[in-house]
Amino acid sequence: QGSWQGMNITVAGLGVSGLSAARALVGLGASVTVVDGGEGPAHHEKAALLKEEGISVRLGDAATLPEGTDLVVTSPGWKPSSPLFAAAAEAGVEVVGDVEIAWRLRGPDAAPWLAITGTNGKTTTTQMLASILTAAGLRTAAVGNIGTPIVDVVLEGDDAYDVFAVELSSYQLHWAPSLRAHSGAVLNLAPDHLDWHGSMEAYAADKGRIYEGNQVACVYNTADKATERLVRGADVEEGCRAIGFTLGTPGPSELGVVEGILVDRAFVEDRQKNAQELAEVSDVTPAAPHNVANALAAAALARAFGVEPAAVRDGLRNFTPDAHRIAHVADVAEVAYVDDSKATNTHAAQASLAAYESIVWIAGGLAKGATFDELVKGAAQRLRGVVLIGADRALIREALERHAPEVPVVDLDRTDTGAMSAAVQEAARLARPGDTVLMAPACASMDMFTNYNKRGEAFATAVRELGAAGV
Ligand code: ADP
Repeated sequence: QGSWQGMNITVAGLGVSGLSAARALVGLGASVTVVDGGEGPAHHEKAALLKEEGISVRLGDAATLPEGTDLVVTSPGWKPSSPLFAAAAEAGVEVVGDVEIAWRLRGPDAAPWLAITGTNGKTTTTQMLASILTAAGLRTAAVGNIGTPIVDVVLEGDDAYDVFAVELSSYQLHWAPSLRAHSGAVLNLAPDHLDWHGSMEAYAADKGRIYEGNQVACVYNTADKATERLVRGADVEEGCRAIGFTLGTPGPSELGVVEGILVDRAFVEDRQKNAQELAEVSDVTPAAPHNVANALAAAALARAFGVEPAAVRDGLRNFTPDAHRIAHVADVAEVAYVDDSKATNTHAAQASLAAYESIVWIAGGLAKGATFDELVKGAAQRLRGVVLIGADRALIREALERHAPEVPVVDLDRTDTGAMSAAVQEAARLARPGDTVLMAPACASMDMFTNYNKRGEAFATAVRELGAAGV
């Protein structure tokens, strides 16, 4: 850690993760300048506070590299094509993210990392893994792209934890060249954030970095060949195994499901047996297929770390998902209302649409360049009706016209926050007893709400109003 003394470090952006890295590095004797293109009152206020902590701030110029910079630390929102990074490359200065800083700050006896990435399910799987590790009596924390900045946790010292469950975004992986996890998992790969990465290939390659240098296991999804290809292309430690997870019967190096039981055929200690039972599907909440897949991935990483089957079962039973992820809000007039506001892309919405039989679907928002044909085609048979809100709803309406012309569609033509309440009322009109009204918008929320939490809360409020009105 001594090597930070006297280093000149430039931090890109006044964000949470960058600032946590900046504070840590100042504490280790580096001199830190934060640069940010903004210069509004909020920026100046933040800058004044940072100055008191010995951190310099340069506002209004996000493009030029401060004189004498030895290392640049990025923030997630900054695209690799940002001019500051071009300037760094020109000057031969290395650019890294907060995860790389955390990795370099670990001591020689630091806790190993069990790392998770994927287009969807990262947070859920990381929390499931932390729950399993806790049930095994291990001191652990869910860190990375979740909760406490990873640098802060690492600075607690090598003795504070036994193992980390680390959620990593594709951005973080892009900027963490020397990270070497004990074991890593890519849950799935679907087009997302392509504006940041530039192409699907670049996005996949960044995700695949999670396998580089793995010591024990590279966990992949047998139903998603792209994840397996990433394993095959990775440079790993000798003896590191490729471990698949499947919703079907597992092969010899896989975890899977047999007659409602999660079973492990990859890590079987007892040579008399060819499979180890871990838990029942009903131990997973919600027990929707995509979430059982998440549980299998978490179990695979835990088993790679030597966790006993009973702890896998207990950890899964103890786990409750975060809000707005397929959360059952209420039943009104024998119709279930489900909030999956976190379904901000088509891949996530597809998973929740697959989990119900007869659905009134509330969808729409910011499409982020997505197309909806495949999603709508796959769900058409199960749609009782659709209510559309948000800026890019026409894209979904057109896909419905092409692939589900019989399904009744109410296009609310609204982007105000009150539209959610109207959407729920329309959905209630379309629904029949036994149906599910599913708010899984397949779009980002920022056209109407501050974030997906607010969108989910608006939905829940509208459902409660509906119940109170005795519909
Ligand atoms: P992330 O952290 O990757 O955004 P979350 O666990 O927060 O993932 O879940 C994001 C969304 O994706 C939720 O709407 C959830 O229902 C859906 N989802 C969760 N796991 C999966 C999966 N394995 N495949 C597809 N969709 C999923």
